[in-house]
Amino acid sequence: MRYTKLLIPTVKETPADAVVVSHRLMLRAGFIRKLAAGIYTYLPLAQRTFTKVANIVREEMNRAGAQELLMPAVAPAELWQESGRWDQYGPELLRFKDRKGGDFIIGPTHEEVITALVRDEVKSYKQLPLNLYQIQTKFRDEVRPRFGLMRGREFTMKDAYSFHVDNADAHREYDNMYAAYCRIFARCGLRFRAVEADTGSIGGNRSHEFQVLADSGEDAIVFTVDDKGRPSYGANVELAPIARPERAPETPGQPACVVETPHKKTIDDVAKFLGLAHDRVLKAVLFLVDNNAVMAVCRGDRDVNEIKLKKALGAKQVRLLTDDEARRKGLVPGYAGPAALDAPEVTVVVDIGVQGLAGLVCGANKEGEHRVQVAEGRDFAVAIWGDLTTAQKGDRCGKNGDVYDAARGIEVGHVFFLGTKYSSAMKATFQGEDKVERLCVMGCYGIGVTRTAAAAIEQNHDDDGIRWPAPIAPFHVSLVALGNEAETMDLASKMEGAWEAQGIEVLFDDRDERPGVKFKDHDLIGCPVRVAVGGKSLKEGVVEVKLRTDTKEQTKKVPVAEAVAFVTGLVSGLLADAKRAADEAESRH
Ligand code: ATP
Ligand code: MG
Repeated sequence: MRYTKLLIPTVKETPADAVVVSHRLMLRAGFIRKLAAGIYTYLPLAQRTFTKVANIVREEMNRAGAQELLMPAVAPAELWQESGRWDQYGPELLRFKDRKGGDFIIGPTHEEVITALVRDEVKSYKQLPLNLYQIQTKFRDEVRPRFGLMRGREFTMKDAYSFHVDNADAHREYDNMYAAYCRIFARCGLRFRAVEADTGSIGGNRSHEFQVLADSGEDAIVFTVDDKGRPSYGANVELAPIARPERAPETPGQPACVVETPHKKTIDDVAKFLGLAHDRVLKAVLFLVDNNAVMAVCRGDRDVNEIKLKKALGAKQVRLLTDDEARRKGLVPGYAGPAALDAPEVTVVVDIGVQGLAGLVCGANKEGEHRVQVAEGRDFAVAIWGDLTTAQKGDRCGKNGDVYDAARGIEVGHVFFLGTKYSSAMKATFQGEDKVERLCVMGCYGIGVTRTAAAAIEQNHDDDGIRWPAPIAPFHVSLVALGNEAETMDLASKMEGAWEAQGIEVLFDDRDERPGVKFKDHDLIGCPVRVAVGGKSLKEGVVEVKLRTDTKEQTKKVPVAEAVAFVTGLVSGLLADAKRAADEAESRH
């Protein structure tokens, strides 16, 4: 395709409001334009990439036995009232009235619509299982739409929903989708990890996020690898289980005593004041857990995590206590500690990382005082131990005992075992073989198509621009004419035709611009292979071929006669690598 015929409005300046690389580069390389906060027009280059991502998703979903349909983006409020989410979802749900005054929403996700459909159409176990998916525009009125397509308000999602006769079959499909997702992200040419994720309010017991590895990612994850370097376990840090420490208990020293620490309330203040390391100061965080006051205790260098606390206590709701609430329960905010605590209404939970420690400092439960030389066991007894802290690199995994490594990730996909949450709320039943009426067991599976493309950029770029993985690049080849002499243009046109005949997509830069200007634009746009034709090299009978990931020095001079076959081989190789990675990823996970 000719550059001069395409709308590719590249810009030199870095847009002021774009803080992440993908946002910046998509604006600069002429992929997107903003219409309103979190709402973008996808220009031709972006649309080509999104179509490729969507097609990979489609092929793999079909291969896994799912069926594509398309539901309306707009849905009546009644369905959301039935599921209870009309009240629960909050302001992210965009609601509006039609001309008759009826309440409607623009779908942020489609559990309600699909469950209503299946309730009406499926009557018998003979019609199950079903896995139905769509690739569609979603709308979520995010509080802080930012980072361009990474967190838009309007975005493209593949959402799939499966329906089963029992839990076992729903879990089988979960595994099937998990494998399909591994193939999808590998086929997109991305480095990713599947990690265990919180099941939140849905309460199902299985959920995995697919995280594209990138330093700019919003999510922190930890993972272990086996002796062959293959991922063996991974989880979001919020719920990654930590094993009990393997060290021997420390020997308690002098008896504990109280010291004055006026106005020293934070871990940092206390540690500095007493000349101790943070891990010697106990952190006591005060929570209200299902209406009970709880003191959660961990080492001062760690953080108590609400998701883990909730799990440790088998609780439904957790929030911090206000200072006033804490005082009413007999606690002294800023000076609370587990030793010599006289607050019978307060439950104390201690993180396993505190086990066997001595020489500690904790709040003395009196304004302006701390207790020093405190030893776990001697100075306070623990009724409830828990794994309470956010996992870090270097912790031992509670699942397999291996040491965690850490990374940052961008959530591009999510698989979820839903159980009967929606089928029971909306009465989606079927008649079993034994004529008994049962609830469908469900799973749901989402992929952010536009976010996947943005994540690809976060993972693959350099100072000059994007480095698209070949399978989702807008074009495979940037063909740059160096000058517009007839010989150059003829040869370039012939090459373009030869490649296109073989299904290789070419962005033919026929502009009347200096080579330097063209090269800059192509580096920005980021197609995987660049071919330069004309000028001095053509006089030598060669064209210059460079991968976007190559340095300038790695540019290859290929004789004109061999150029078509050479580049065809390069592109086919890159695409084949991703296909092979998909098979590997599936067998590895
Ligand atoms: P997040 O935690 O990032 O807000 P989520 O967990 O709410 O996402 P899901 O409901 O699991 O998202 O949606 C499925 C997929 O849709 C996500 O994995 C992500 O790829 C994509 N997605 C969700 N919200 C957005 C958004 N605001 N912009 C772009 N993609 C999104
Ligand atoms: Mg999610």
